[in-house]
Amino acid sequence: KAKELGRNRSCYYQRELTDSIHSRMSLEQDLRSALEQHSFTLYYQPQFRVGDSIPKRVEALLRWPHPVRGLISPHDFIPLAETSGMIVELGYWVLRSACQQFLFWRQQGLKLEKISVNVSPIQINSSFASTVADILQHLDFDPRWLELEVTESLMMSGTTEVSQQISELRAMGVDFAIDDFGTGYSSLSKIKSMPVTVLKIDQSFVRDINDDINDYEIARAIVLMAKSLGLIVVAEGVETKEQEGTLHRLGCEWVQGYYYAMPMDGEEFYQRYCTEAVQPD
Ligand code: C2E
Ligand code: MG
Ligand code: MG
Ligand code: MG
Repeated sequence: KAKELGRNRSCYYQRELTDSIHSRMSLEQDLRSALEQHSFTLYYQPQFRVGDSIPKRVEALLRWPHPVRGLISPHDFIPLAETSGMIVELGYWVLRSACQQFLFWRQQGLKLEKISVNVSPIQINSSFASTVADILQHLDFDPRWLELEVTESLMMSGTTEVSQQISELRAMGVDFAIDDFGTGYSSLSKIKSMPVTVLKIDQSFVRDINDDINDYEIARAIVLMAKSLGLIVVAEGVETKEQEGTLHRLGCEWVQGYYYAMPMDGEEFYQRYCTEAVQPD
């Protein structure tokens, strides 16, 4: 009886396993053809100086409209794009599209200063800096308008390859931000020597900033440290007026989150911020 049960169970696991392999394979195949057919899309989320209603900065966020599965979140396909290597090509598509969109908005009179694009560690290979340079040059895009968001662990790992690619881009004027800051293992002494200009306070500290003293203290420490090092701080995941108030009191100048705007497609961003945007400097 037990044996039978065991066999059934192993059958069951077997089927689960093949199912998951199949779905992984078909997802990978779908991902590949989406890449070939350029069927990804970008959403954009504005970043504001606290109190402003017109954004000066914007983050590009990748979306995959899947014919059957609907709009797939990057959390569900970036890992696969990374392990399959597709993230490299996909990443260049993201960069090119985001820069083009940014140029269009500026032509329409919106005085955006920066577009930030997320970059996976896998993308930073030996030809990364030169390919980015080519893309920007081809678009006639000022490198000082671009910010690349990388992870804390990438900055900490600091292989010579990675730091060489980053310093090449820094020399051109491209900025770097550390995304999800506070969730990794940065040592304070190292941050000083990192070639970054922006720290993004992770949304996990913002969420309970008014209820959890630890989160509050971490956010406070990040802002203090960033200020003393001359870095810009952006708080992510701001959802309420109360969170904004606390961040503002701590000295955080830049905010991003659902309280101001959900990520939206380029057309909606245009409608919202460009149509009434003949602004003074
Ligand atoms: P991230 O760069 O830390 O982006 C912030 C995430 O928080 C986004 O999720 C955004 O939609 C969401 N968010 C914004 N405001 C709020 C808020 O007020 N509350 C809450 N709860 N969430 C908020 P999304 O768009 O699903 O992206 C998830 C992650 O996927 C990103 O985290 C980023 O690490 C990655 N990702 C997105 N686009 C790209 C890309 O083009 N390339 C790479 N390599 N990774 C990307
Ligand atoms: Mg980001
Ligand atoms: Mg983040
Ligand atoms: Mg993240």
